[in-house]
Order: sequence, then C-alpha cells, then structure tokens
Amino acid sequence: MKQLPQTERTALRRLPKRGTYDRESIYAILDEALLCHVGFIVEAQPYVIPTGFVRVEDRLFLHGSKASRMLKALKDGVEACVTVTLLDGLVLARSAFHHSMNYRSVVVFGKASSVEDDKGKMAVLRAFSEHMIPNRWDEVREPNQNELNATLVVSLPLDEASAKIRVGPPVDDEEDYALSVWAGVLPLRVMTQEAINDPRLPEEIQLPASVGNYNRANEKP
Ligand SMILES: Cc1cc2nc3c(=O)[nH]c(=O)nc-3n(C[C@H](O)[C@H](O)[C@H](O)COP(=O)(O)OP(=O)(O)OC[C@H]3O[C@@H](n4cnc5c(N)ncnc54)[C@H](O)[C@@H]3O)c2cc1C
Repeated sequence: MKQLPQTERTALRRLPKRGTYDRESIYAILDEALLCHVGFIVEAQPYVIPTGFVRVEDRLFLHGSKASRMLKALKDGVEACVTVTLLDGLVLARSAFHHSMNYRSVVVFGKASSVEDDKGKMAVLRAFSEHMIPNRWDEVREPNQNELNATLVVSLPLDEASAKIRVGPPVDDEEDYALSVWAGVLPLRVMTQEAINDPRLPEEIQLPASVGNYNRANEKP
C-alpha cells in the first residue's frame, strides 16, 4: 500500500496541505532521523521519552533495557504515539508572528509487540547499528547471550502514520513585504565534527572508514 489511510487520529487539522500519508515520504524521514520521542500513558501519567529507533520494512523498532518502563509498557500493549522530527531551518519573517521553522516530521500511532527470539533480536540490533553508523557492526564485538537476554526489542507496525513537511521562505502578511526588515531562511543541519579517540585507545589503532567517512549531512536531499 503506497498511501497510508488517513484515520481520525492522523487527520491533520491545521495546514493540511503540508501533510502527507505517502509511505515513501514517511519512510524517507524515518530513515534519516536518529532519534524519536515515544509517548505513552502509565497509570494516568503521560510520558514522552526520547530514544533511538530503526525502521525495517513496514515496522519501527525500539530497543533497550528490560527494566525500561517505556519498553515494558509497550510490550504490555499500551497505545503509543511516536514522533520523529528533522529540523531543516529557521524561517525568519518580517513580523515576529510569521516566524516559523522548516521541518520534516512524522507521527506514528500503534500498539507494539515484542521480538522474542534471539535470531530476530540480533537482526534488529544489527539494523539499529547500521542505521546509526553503516558498516560499524562488522568492526565490533557482537552482543553476547547475556547482553541479548538483558535487551528488550519491540516494534510498531507502520500502519497509522502521517508526515508533515514545511519548506520554503517565510509567508508574511502582504503589507509587511514593504518593511525594511531582512527576511529569509537560516538552514540548519546535523553535521559531524572530527572524531575524538577514546583515551584508552592504543595508538596503533587507526580511525576506521565507517567513522572517518561518516557524514549525515550527505544524506540530506
Ligand atoms: C520543528 C517544528 C516546529 C513547529 N512549530 C510549531 C509552532 O510553533 N506552533 C504550532 O502550532 N505548530 C508548530 N508545528 C506544527 C505542529 O507539529 C502541529 O502540526 C500543529 O501544531 C498542529 O496541527 P493540527 O492542529 O493539524 O494537528 P493535531 O490536530 O494536533 O494533530 C492531528 C494529527 O495530525 C498529524 N500531525 C500533526 N502535526 C504533525 C506533524 N508535525 N508531523 C506529522 N504529523 C502531524 C498527527 O497524525 C496528528 O495526530 C511545528 C512542527 C515542527 C516539526
């Protein structure tokens, strides 16, 4: 299914023209982002927890300690809402009111299920690693049985989701275009800086290509 169905929960009310339910657009945002925020309610208390994630095919995976309240709640089938935001720029208008941001964001609703078998867990952990830094997995020690046992992996289906995208210059009130005020967009992006050796790294170990060539900015459209 190329387009996700628009549901009562995912129907955009404000500026719906910025919304899309196109699976390809939603997946492109998910695949570029490194972190998400997971919203859920436990005993009438809402929580919104930032964490890493990865998309594999039509599911979004989260992982962490078995002691995590978030993961335990998700495993138990609580309704969850996951958001992902890529900030692309500050939109600087002639009036304070029309200042905005350029962004690409996704909201996902659903109930998670857990990945129980070790082989499935290992595949997801590898996908996490590849999502964070391609080719790193093959350079490092794989998780051992104790580490696997201590890790909870859950996934949500990407069946009910929306994306919202703002691009372009500010939109000022017509009469404000006559003001002598600078207006435009200040682009922002996530960039790598020079890698810092671990203080306990033996001198003879060189920086691997996976780290040396890493540049998230290259992934931007
Ligand atoms: C970086 C950034 C800055 C923003 N700044 C502002 C701001 O200052 N003020 C402001 O009012 N809004 C801002 N927004 C937009 C905000 O996210 C909401 O879209 C908006 O406030 C509410 O729209 P709504 O009433 O249609 O959504 P709601 O009625 O609250 O949501 C209905 C459904 O629309 C979908 N939806 C809503 N927003 C998004 C989204 N951003 N991405 C994907 N799906 C979405 C969801 O499925 C949601 O359940 C910002 C967004 C981003 C990413």
